[in-house]
Amino acid sequence: MTTDFVRLRKRMVDEQIRARGIQDLSTLTSMEKVPRHLFIPEELRFAAYDDTPLPIGRGQTISQPYIVALMTEAAEVGPHAKVLEIGTGSGYAAAVLSQIVDEVYTIERIASLAERAEACFKKLDYQNIHVKVGDGSLGWLEHGPYDAILVTAGAPVVPQSLLKQLNMAGRLIIPVGEASTQHLVRFRKTSESEFSEEMLELVRFVPLIGEEGW
Ligand code: SAM
Repeated sequence: MTTDFVRLRKRMVDEQIRARGIQDLSTLTSMEKVPRHLFIPEELRFAAYDDTPLPIGRGQTISQPYIVALMTEAAEVGPHAKVLEIGTGSGYAAAVLSQIVDEVYTIERIASLAERAEACFKKLDYQNIHVKVGDGSLGWLEHGPYDAILVTAGAPVVPQSLLKQLNMAGRLIIPVGEASTQHLVRFRKTSESEFSEEMLELVRFVPLIGEEGW
């Protein structure tokens, strides 16, 4: 069974990720390594490496593998980076980041999901991921500033708290727009008060619910 998942994972990276233009070696290597099926409810594991998001309970989803790859590459992070993720969900995206960067901080508003993700990190011995239950639209001030912040839920507008918690040249990757569809945008801090902005993709995320979200 294990061998099967290894083969499926390699095929996922080749056919869904590399074939769509993701080139960052650390992203590709991490996604070949992290066992995505362990972050998915047992009854859906057969579909773990399919080209699709999947339900993880409580009305939430684990993102499509390509979107995880796109956001990870867009974060432009390396071994010394400190990253904040908003929306732990299954924990998969945080796990992918943890194999690339120094420390990952991740916030989830639904306690049962955060607990399940933490159990998974423990099982895999991923020790550089720190989980908090709370409203991630406000960020996690005490560990900032961050080299990159990835938001895996759609926001109506860009949370100012998150922009404020970026390092100089830090990147915020965030879906912004309507509840049904959003633009995935990368903001880059160019001075104390200025940010550049690039549109990456049209996406469909579950809503970011919180003080600076919906
Ligand atoms: N990154 C996740 C993964 O790899 O499985 C996918 C996350 S799912 C698309 C979005 C998650 O964001 C949900 O689990 C949801 O509960 C969470 N969420 C929504 N609003 C939030 C907020 N204000 N703070 C923290 N988490 C939030």
